[in-house]
Amino acid sequence: MYFFNDVEKKTLLGSILPTARKVGVSEELRGWNWFTPPLKPLYTGEGIPNYLVGAQYCATARDVFVARVRGIEGKSNIHAITGSLVHKAVSTVVLSYVEEGREPDFDEWWKREASIFGSLNEEQGASMSAQEGLKKFVKSAWNQTSSECLGALLARRSAQPYASEHDVRVSALPFLVEHKVDGRLLGLSGILSVDCYDYLHGVIFDLKYLRPGSAQQPWRRLYSAGYAIVLESVYEIPIDVGCVIYVSLVNNQLKVSRDIFFIGDDVRGWWLEERDKKLEIIAQKKDPGLPSKCYDACLYLKYCLGDQR
Ligand code: SF4
Repeated sequence: MYFFNDVEKKTLLGSILPTARKVGVSEELRGWNWFTPPLKPLYTGEGIPNYLVGAQYCATARDVFVARVRGIEGKSNIHAITGSLVHKAVSTVVLSYVEEGREPDFDEWWKREASIFGSLNEEQGASMSAQEGLKKFVKSAWNQTSSECLGALLARRSAQPYASEHDVRVSALPFLVEHKVDGRLLGLSGILSVDCYDYLHGVIFDLKYLRPGSAQQPWRRLYSAGYAIVLESVYEIPIDVGCVIYVSLVNNQLKVSRDIFFIGDDVRGWWLEERDKKLEIIAQKKDPGLPSKCYDACLYLKYCLGDQR
């Protein structure tokens, strides 16, 4: 998942990095300037998770009001569970290779994780056949991640036979997976979790499950942009490249595509607008009302629409 193919490497080296070097990022939008506007948050208090800043599923951002002001817990569904399982599968495999140099046992892992279906009923999409289909899909993502990690380890070992095992692993797989970081300097939560940061190439990855019928969206870049700004605020290093990894099922096959982009002023400014708007909703306990159309897989449908749905 976290390795680029030939075309993506050319895009990165021939287009994105040269643009980043030529255009650059305005100094005031680097995370290390968190103490001054426009990065300094207007509202402080209990920080919000970056996924709420980036999410654009609800056109009025009522999801923020419902979750953080009313304290309502969303009702999970099969799409949310699929996304969560794909994330867990990928991070479990990568971490196992980084820590132990080998693939974990999929069946044991699945037995543990499948208990998540207990929270759903058949109407919510948790039929046995749906679970079987999901298991196959998650296993494909697992297998692909495992083959890539193994290939990278073998290539690195054969290229540097005098390298220690530790050196081989941390350079072949330079990934901080589910990296926990404190976002409070920017008004975010203190326990953020970044899907993956490639510390040798300076790339922030964000993994997204695309359910059938949904499409890639430019706003999904907001998540990586937010994490880049947070890492800049904590570690004081520049991060210029983001990548949204879209995982979906097409023609019964796992499909992985990547949107690699320069985390320039535009997306940073957009992220700041979203952060400020959402912090304001919470600080002022402001109900932004219903949009003209709700997202059909929203976790708050029952709360917002009640019996209308
Ligand atoms: S149910 Fe509708 S109004 Fe409520 S959070 Fe979801 S999309 Fe927004």
